[in-house]
Amino acid sequence: MPRAWLSSSVRRAYGCHVAQLAGTGGDGLGTPTEIAPRVWWVGASRPGETFQCHAYLVEAGEHSVLIDPGSSEVIDDVLAKVRQIIPTELIKWVVCHHSDPDIAAGLPRLRQALPRADVELVTEWRAQTLLHHYHAGFPYYLVEENAWQLPLDGDRQLRFALTPYLHFPGALCSWDRSTGVLFSSDLFGGFTDGSDLFARDGSYFEAMRPFHEHYMPSREILAAGLSRLQRAFRPITAIAPQHGCVIPQPLVDEMFDRLKELECGIFLIAREDLDVARLLRVSNAVRRMTDALVMAHDLPELAAIAQRVLPDMLPVGDIELYVETADEGLLRFAAADGYVGSPGAMPTASATSLVLPVGGGGPAASVHIELTEPADISHEMAEMFLRLVPALRVALHRHLEQRQLEHEHEELQESAMRDALTGLLNRHALERMARRDLRFGVLMIDIDHFKQVNDTYGHVAGDRVLQEVARCCRDAVRAADLVFRYGGEEMVVLLPNADRAHTISAAERVREAVSRLVVPDVAGLAGVTISVGASMHHRGQPVAEAIDDADRSLYVAKAAGRNRVQGAW
Ligand code: GH3
Ligand code: MG
Ligand code: MG
Repeated sequence: MPRAWLSSSVRRAYGCHVAQLAGTGGDGLGTPTEIAPRVWWVGASRPGETFQCHAYLVEAGEHSVLIDPGSSEVIDDVLAKVRQIIPTELIKWVVCHHSDPDIAAGLPRLRQALPRADVELVTEWRAQTLLHHYHAGFPYYLVEENAWQLPLDGDRQLRFALTPYLHFPGALCSWDRSTGVLFSSDLFGGFTDGSDLFARDGSYFEAMRPFHEHYMPSREILAAGLSRLQRAFRPITAIAPQHGCVIPQPLVDEMFDRLKELECGIFLIAREDLDVARLLRVSNAVRRMTDALVMAHDLPELAAIAQRVLPDMLPVGDIELYVETADEGLLRFAAADGYVGSPGAMPTASATSLVLPVGGGGPAASVHIELTEPADISHEMAEMFLRLVPALRVALHRHLEQRQLEHEHEELQESAMRDALTGLLNRHALERMARRDLRFGVLMIDIDHFKQVNDTYGHVAGDRVLQEVARCCRDAVRAADLVFRYGGEEMVVLLPNADRAHTISAAERVREAVSRLVVPDVAGLAGVTISVGASMHHRGQPVAEAIDDADRSLYVAKAAGRNRVQGAW
């Protein structure tokens, strides 16, 4: 029996057991499945294989369409599924998104099996020149000669868009205007075992990742093709790829966004060794290291990640960094001294010791990796280090800046820079900091209903609360972050080199810490809360402007009910 249209049940139960609802959990991809009104999955069942091949049927009366029918190995299975839904006499169109055998080798068999003489093959001219070699005998309907559209019955219509080099020069995708389903061919494909027809959650990205890293030529080309699809086809309510899983609406945007960021074209890092599994391992390590370099806030964090990632490829022991500085000469940053930086001498490379120069502008620097045993450095690994250099330089620059800030921070401990009641930095210190042209996150903090605290418990108790809240804020941020008393019960926090995500999480951390605060000397005080406005300060921007942004967000947080964080973006 064909499955009924599942969209509503999928929507209702999405996130728990979509595949079971779709009826694919028990018997694999055994029966046709309606993935949207009158759009059917009619692919081949290949249990246990990691490469599923999907065909789709758009039911449109006498203009029904079979999409990417399949190879000679699967075409009879596909036709058997179609017959469970409609008589094959209704198939008028066969779409081939490109000419690979897993899409088109079954065409000669299909020509024999379809009863109508007027069936046409819908494709683009580059694929046509290759499809010809299957000798199927179908006449062609070339999309570029037909305004990139195929009218079906009523106002139903398929539209087409070219996604060049993904992974064929003339690769096509199509979109069903009435349901919003995107038939994406190789795009959004994944390596899956065929037990689920629908992607259950964001983890499907991990099935797409190796497929795209391997088949798609580069991140730039992939991102351009995906943007083109999003511009051409609106809305996209589901994605039906030729391999992998159907992507339901709640995951569509996320999968587009994440694919656009994916580094592809793993063969670009290969010189002589074209072993795909090995290249995927190297590219995986590059990705994890690049992510780490972007995300890690300091060298210790970075070194910890390198210690986890690199052993996949190298027997890594200690990792150290050497930097030539103007004031202090050559500094060595190592785990042994907590990466604070101390004078050192540059080590020499040996069979068990690599010295990798981190070239480019700025101070001369090298990474020194101690190996636990001698190991060969392959071309791919050398390439990987080269790719990591720009991000490593950024991390290094950030670390040196942070170090400088900590030094300045120590200077700011002087009493003239501190507020007497709370011990926080004062306005004068803030003005001094504002002269530094740095990128930082800004938090504007204000205690909620503080007047009531004064009114109920007296001014002395209010002072006590203020001191405790100030201490709480300082404890909840990093050593390099700066906390100022800005006004009466208002505080400003500057988070050097923080991005938005870090700024918001710091704000949340402070807010939560205060909400848990118990002020022992003020009996009866039920609890103190703060509201926080967060903004970003960019290099070159007046600091007062970023503080104003945070202040405006603070007002939004107050208006929205207090005890919350509001970002200015
Ligand atoms: P909300 O911010 O949630 O809108 O309410 P609020 O009650 O906190 O309102 P507002 O910010 O207008 O009030 C600030 C109060 O903080 C007024 C002032 O009496 C009190 N305050 C300011 N500086 C001090 C101080 O140094 N010690 C004490 N005890 N109170 C202070
Ligand atoms: Mg106030
Ligand atoms: Mg207040």
